[in-house]
Amino acid sequence: MTPAAAPPPVVWDVPLRTRFRGLDRRDGVLLRGDAGWAELSPFWDYDAAESAAWLRAAREAADTGWPDPVRDRVPVNVTVPAVDAATARAIVLASGGCRTAKVKVAERGQGLDEEVARLEAVRDALGPDGRIRVDANAAWDVDTAAARLAVLDRAAGGLEYAEQPVPSVADLAALRRRTPVPLAADESVRRAEDPLAVARAGAADVLVLKVQPLGGVRACLRLAERTGLPVVVSSALESSVGLAAGLALAAALPELPYACGLATAQLLAQDLVAEPLLPQDGSIAVRRPEPDAARLAAARADADLDARWRTRLAAIEAAALAAGGVR
Ligand SMILES: [Mg+2]
Repeated sequence: MTPAAAPPPVVWDVPLRTRFRGLDRRDGVLLRGDAGWAELSPFWDYDAAESAAWLRAAREAADTGWPDPVRDRVPVNVTVPAVDAATARAIVLASGGCRTAKVKVAERGQGLDEEVARLEAVRDALGPDGRIRVDANAAWDVDTAAARLAVLDRAAGGLEYAEQPVPSVADLAALRRRTPVPLAADESVRRAEDPLAVARAGAADVLVLKVQPLGGVRACLRLAERTGLPVVVSSALESSVGLAAGLALAAALPELPYACGLATAQLLAQDLVAEPLLPQDGSIAVRRPEPDAARLAAARADADLDARWRTRLAAIEAAALAAGGVR
């Protein structure tokens, strides 16, 4: 139970710098427990039952805290959206020294030529020793993916891996036998009923893990251990209060061979802490920033959104209880 003295949840709402995942704003709740402040911010397309895992992650952060880190910095990637070549180049050069770029591909309305030009520009900006991965967000079928990845691998001067090029676990397993490019599973882990299915099917070389949808830092550590696959920790577009949980997971993993997708604080136009978790020389220092009173006041949701979140929070708590509690 949360101690009676704990302050009430704070509902926040901030603008994004640019439209992302179809969103112009990001909102959520901060909860306070004995171990500190925690973020609960399932996207609005997650229902109460699906959001129960997000609540377990928040309660772990608020009540228990996280396992000890084994490293004090976490290398991170810059994310390059489906932009033109000149913009892609500028984004990499302004990334705070990131040596790995994740490039979005398979954007509706764009062709292969645009993707090739984007990848060539990113390679040029990173130099020969930088690493490039692509993310297709499950947009291709197996034949298209096999053909496209051959071209994109050449354009990039070698791809580190391709993230979720095809939708299902079976598709990933089939594609993996047809391409030399390593494959990472993201959507197939995050919204799957059985996150271990990817490993059992031999469907991926890398797992992308997100703390909130997977139920917390310890739940992710157990998943990593049981699959034996290397992990890339990514954010769910959290404020720096929520990003700290991803950073704690990345810092606690026994091995961290890939840069993580945690350099997303810069996508928010406002943050909730005085010193946001931003990369320097391509990595983020491991720490847990506390919310800052003035920034939190500036980010307070209006009365309507505040009321919607309180109703939603009660529904998520009820769903978590029905599923066997939050721990
Ligand atoms: Mg992804």
